[in-house]
This record gives sequence, C-alpha cells and structure tokens, in this order.
Amino acid sequence: MSDLGGQKHGHVYRVLTQNSPFADPDAFEPGADTIGYLRESKVLVIGAGGLGCEILKDLALSGFTDIHVIDMDTIDVTNLNRQFLFRQADVGKTKAEVAAAFINKRLGHLGAKVTAHVGKIQDFDETFYRKFNLLIAGLDNIAARRWMNATLHDMVDRTSGEPDPSTIIPLIDGGTEGFKGQARVIIPTMTSCFDCSLDAFPPQVNYPLCTIAETPRLPEHCVEYAVVVLWEQRFPGQKLNRDSPADMQWVYEQAKDRAATFGIPGVTYQLTMGVVKRIIPAIASTNALIAAALVAEALKVATYCGPVLNNYMMYMGQQGVYTHTFPYQKKEDCMVCGGAKLTMKRPKSSTLQELLDELGSHPSLQLSRPSISSTSGIVFMQNPKAIREQHEYKLQMSLKDLTQADPPVFSEGEDLIVTDPMLPTKLTLQVHLE
Ligand SMILES: [Zn+2]
Repeated sequence: MSDLGGQKHGHVYRVLTQNSPFADPDAFEPGADTIGYLRESKVLVIGAGGLGCEILKDLALSGFTDIHVIDMDTIDVTNLNRQFLFRQADVGKTKAEVAAAFINKRLGHLGAKVTAHVGKIQDFDETFYRKFNLLIAGLDNIAARRWMNATLHDMVDRTSGEPDPSTIIPLIDGGTEGFKGQARVIIPTMTSCFDCSLDAFPPQVNYPLCTIAETPRLPEHCVEYAVVVLWEQRFPGQKLNRDSPADMQWVYEQAKDRAATFGIPGVTYQLTMGVVKRIIPAIASTNALIAAALVAEALKVATYCGPVLNNYMMYMGQQGVYTHTFPYQKKEDCMVCGGAKLTMKRPKSSTLQELLDELGSHPSLQLSRPSISSTSGIVFMQNPKAIREQHEYKLQMSLKDLTQADPPVFSEGEDLIVTDPMLPTKLTLQVHLE
C-alpha cells in the first residue's frame, strides 16, 4: 500500500481493501482501484464555519486529497471557541483561506490539499460546480442551501427524457442547531431534495413593522424597533455593525428603555444578540457528530464501500445520544425536483397585495419579497424602489380589475414568473379567479 499514501490512512484502506457484507457486491470492488477513486474524488465543502472546519479535517483524515472549500466570511473572535482551525491572529482574515492553509500545513503529509475559494456560492457558475464529484454543505442558512440544491438540480441534463447520471452531483447536506442536527444525502432527481422538506423548517421570523412600532408585546419587538427605527434615527445612513460590542450595547440599551416604557420583561444583552444576529446557538460536539456523519456518507458515495444513507438522519442530543433515520419522501409538487407549477385559486375581488401576502406566507415556499411578471410585463416588482413605486398603485386593485385593465396586467391562468430573494430559481405561478 505504500504507493497509495503509505499506512497513514490504514484504517480507511483496511475497509476499502476487504469485502464487506454491507457493501453492494455489484458496485464495490475492494482494492487499489477503489482507493484510487477516493484519492481522485474532487470534493467541494460549502462553508468553513463550525461544521465546515470539522468536515475539512474529517475529509483529510479519511483519505480524500482533492478538497475545495468555499466561504465568503471573515473570522470573528466569537468563532474561535468551536471553529478550531482559526486562531486569535486570524481574526479578520477569510475563513476559506485560513482553514485551507491550516489543513494543508497540518495534514498535507497525508496527501490532503485544500483549495480555498473566497466568495458567495452564487458568485460561481455551473462550470465551477461541474468540476466536483460531490458537494458537502455545512451552511447555517436556508436561502444558501436552497440555492445550492436548486443549482445542482438545474445542472442535471434531462434532454433525453431521463436524467443523465453523469450530470448528477450528490449533495450531502448537514445542519445543526444547538443540540440538534441533521445529515442527509440528496441525489438530484433520485431522492427528495432540500425544498421537498421546506415545511419542516419554521418560517423565518420577521415581525411586521406596525407591531414593533405601535403595539410591541415581546422583548424581541423592542430589539427589532431599536435596530430598524431607532438606529436609523440616531445614525442615519450608517450600517449597524453586528460584530461591534459598542453597537450591540447601544441597541441593547435602547431596547431595554423601550421595554421599560411598555412594561415588557425579558430584554437582555443575550436576547439582543440573538435577535440582531439571528444567532443559532452553536455547540461544538453537535458539529463534530454531524460532520462525521457527512464525511462517512462522502466516503461511501465515493467508494461504494457501504450503503448510502437513505436519506435523512436526525440527531437529537438534548436528552441523550439519540438518532433517527428515515427516507424523506419526494414531494410531488416540489418546485425544484418535481418541476411543478404553483396554482392558486383567488377570489375575484381579492387584491394584488393579498396575493403577495398569500405567496409570502405559503409554508412550502417561504418567500420574503416576491415579485411577479407576466407576458405583458411587470405585475409587481419589489426592487429597485423607483420601479416599485411605479407599480404600487396596483396593490389595492382587485385581481379581476387587473385582468380586465386595458391592456391587461396579466391574464387568468397564464404562466406568471415569480422571483424572490429566497427563491433559488424562478417559479411559475398560475392564478385562477373564483
Ligand atoms: Zn424537491
């Protein structure tokens, strides 16, 4: 084995050179060729945060050599307790580059080479993603995971009718939240996808401005008011720096005063941080467990040395070490993997504003600011402001009046295109009036 990297990965090579009762005998061929697949697999890790650091280390120690990592963030001092590839001196530097350099220095002798890509995942196109055999996502936000999921589905060539297997790139997706975590394997078009399970995530909490301004009831409302209204009044045009303790202290004190005015208990510095940063508490051991599960799947996907997770594993660490695995079913009307159109029945007299609200609160879409266009042009556009203002007059118009305007703003039943910052791809919507 010395020509394959010596005994350094002896533990992994032992698995890959012996028959296994668990492996599919038609797919798994123990021996040097399989070890070769592993070493030649090009893996992209998305996110170099809490999960990403663990994933990179696990990949390098599991015998992967061609590892890439993409992340847009720089290192913050609050990352250091768990993102163990970073040190005090790295604060302010980019996560992807520091993580890559650390692994290369520490584990380079195992053959691991990590290449860093600094930027948003949306900055890279299909040509970039097509280079990889598999992706592992350790992301902390749903929008980015939806984008990645949709992009990999778009990349599957279906021109012959059936998906071309050579264009399918597996996505191994992990997420953690406090003591809870999950790992799943998404094989585009074959398994359920990220959007199929969107109903399982609670919708992002956005408090309506009228509530936070006029009838605050929760401590969160007071914090939001301090951020959205008071900050702008006191520091017009200046962006709140969520990583600055001075800024956060200011927000906290304003929120506390407001809470006192309305007799609302519970505003603490901790809560302020949580609301402002939408912090999901991170626990290092949860990240370690989930990353290990993800990399075990990567090893199996790359070598067929065992059955791949089918397809969703949940870890619940609140009360013990408990996991639950089940096949998450494909959703037939999934917009991403099912290619479905959304149809909505709306009363004739309902307004465009009500239609937008309905889209915004749709549990399996989770849109934030939907814009709609028809074959005749813009129905409504959220941005830029100047364009939005041109179309605002339609918001209170009834759908019936919009379809009967001269020229019609849209026609009943036609394919409308919906775009939204939360939406990875365009969505086709048909509106029927009743
Ligand atoms: Zn789906």
